[in-house]
Amino acid sequence: MNLKEKIREIENFPKEGISFKDITTLLKDGDYFRYAVDSIVNNLKDKNIDVVVGPEARGFLLGAPVAYAMGAGFVPVRKPGKLPGETEAFSYDLEYGVDTLEMHKDAIEPGMNVAIVDDLLATGGTTKAVAKLIEKLGGKVVAVEYLIELEFLEAKEQKLSDYEVRSLIKY
Ligand code: 5GP
Repeated sequence: MNLKEKIREIENFPKEGISFKDITTLLKDGDYFRYAVDSIVNNLKDKNIDVVVGPEARGFLLGAPVAYAMGAGFVPVRKPGKLPGETEAFSYDLEYGVDTLEMHKDAIEPGMNVAIVDDLLATGGTTKAVAKLIEKLGGKVVAVEYLIELEFLEAKEQKLSDYEVRSLIKY
């Protein structure tokens, strides 16, 4: 099954010069959606994953079904002020300015095996921040799985060399 043919590329979204990879065209096709989720589940089998962590918002769309299929827990990472309980925060640099992500402090217990699942790897800034949050709480990031990876940005080499990173579709 060629997953890439279901990704729609939209030029100049959300701003000039960006070729946005739209995953909604894949998600709306039941066979392709299931194949994508099953492929990630297959990559994670035998890794004893306790929880899957998914960043807002598209990380929820893939992370939650992956966790469900494995019988693992799911933990959301959100923008500041969205989670009701006590949170741990991590700030990271963007091209212009900073961004902050939050996770519930009690979401991860020390020693847990954690997989990060997200839709797309671009610069790796989001994933690096999520990994730092997990590690701050004592979790072990045993795998990072994406639907799409923008290989030409070299995030795997430059930001995520400490982690086992895989993707299903590459640009
Ligand atoms: P990074 O932090 O690696 O630079 O950016 C990755 C994050 O931005 C992911 O959480 C992803 O949802 C979002 N993102 C950036 N570009 C795209 C894109 O072209 N398509 C989609 N679907 N998400 C993107």
